[in-house]
Amino acid sequence: MIRINPERFLADLDALRRIGGCGTGVVRRALTLEDMEGRRWLAQRMAESGLRPEWDPVGNIFGIAPEAGGSILIGSHADTQPEGGWLDGAYGVICGLEIARAAQECGIGGVSVVAFSDEEGHFQPLMGSRYWTGELSLADIDGNKDSRGRTLGAVRAELPELRDARQVPASLFSAFIEPHIEQGPVLDTSGEEIAVVTAIVGMRHVELVFTGDQNHAGTTPMALRRDALQAFVRYASELDPLFRPDAGSAVWTFGQVDLHPNAVSIVPGRVRALLQIRDGSTEHLEAMARTAIDLAVRLGAEGPCPIQANLLSGLEPALLDEGLILALSEAAADHGRPGCRHMLSGALHDASPIARILPAAMLFTPSINGKSHSFDEDTRLEHLVLGCEIVAAAAYRYRRRTD
Ligand SMILES: [Zn+2]
Repeated sequence: MIRINPERFLADLDALRRIGGCGTGVVRRALTLEDMEGRRWLAQRMAESGLRPEWDPVGNIFGIAPEAGGSILIGSHADTQPEGGWLDGAYGVICGLEIARAAQECGIGGVSVVAFSDEEGHFQPLMGSRYWTGELSLADIDGNKDSRGRTLGAVRAELPELRDARQVPASLFSAFIEPHIEQGPVLDTSGEEIAVVTAIVGMRHVELVFTGDQNHAGTTPMALRRDALQAFVRYASELDPLFRPDAGSAVWTFGQVDLHPNAVSIVPGRVRALLQIRDGSTEHLEAMARTAIDLAVRLGAEGPCPIQANLLSGLEPALLDEGLILALSEAAADHGRPGCRHMLSGALHDASPIARILPAAMLFTPSINGKSHSFDEDTRLEHLVLGCEIVAAAAYRYRRRTD
């Protein structure tokens, strides 16, 4: 077995927290001074642990196990949101570092670590992992600008580690495990300490345009109005009961609604609303999008406002690997958590693109009060250690089974 050192693991997590630390939180936007300081520190820790640090052109940093054959890659991202928590990403990276180091110490080896670049979208969401899996090329992303208007290409050119770096081949690895905090309230609310993720949600976006008759809000009698906002309100309230009975773990949101002209004395002439649906099943996503479009057709025909519905670009769910899910579940049982929860990830993670090229899995630990993307983000230390121990045990089981 791979026996981790909990004190060293927590000390490293704390050391990374101090780089870009801001009160209880952390600010390390991708490829800024703070982020690069964190990555250089990680590269040094990797080398000290008997791993070979390898940078790639977008700042992904790998600590590669020296043993021949495909090692198990464990990690996450090291960058943060503009006001980030200390565990989002960092937890998975330091778990990977500790497990790879412990595997070297006990002579088993075969575990590598990665800190992906720019998961949080400073230049583009999931940039590092999507570049690594070949979904994005440098030509696709070099023109992307950060919040200060600097392009990725210009930033890369100034960083010596990135300038001459090459792609790290995925063929070096046999599987990927991403330990991560849940970033939601499910585990904290239920008092559970761990969950195995079965899939990362996909999405559908439906654009809805309600066309009314813009007019004077004082002189237009109610019976003669065609109010685009009222049509939207009716649509949203009729959609909800259609979705709810078979919703399962799906979620849906009208996160963006634009009202025209949005003035107190004008009957609204137009509403554009974006409906987002997330779920772990492609069939279910498609059925729900169809329901939303059918309702628009029906209510638009009833009037008084025509409704246009357009299906925009979507994202397919990422199914995680059954062999790794089993290894994590068995490892959890060995650590006194038999029958631990299996759940969807409603947030995207680096494991989403990676699951398309390697067997991939995720383990969640609870987020206190469900908080993340906030300086208030936190997890009990014993849960952080438990998650790391379970991933170490699962990596060992998986290797033995597949060797
Ligand atoms: Zn994250």
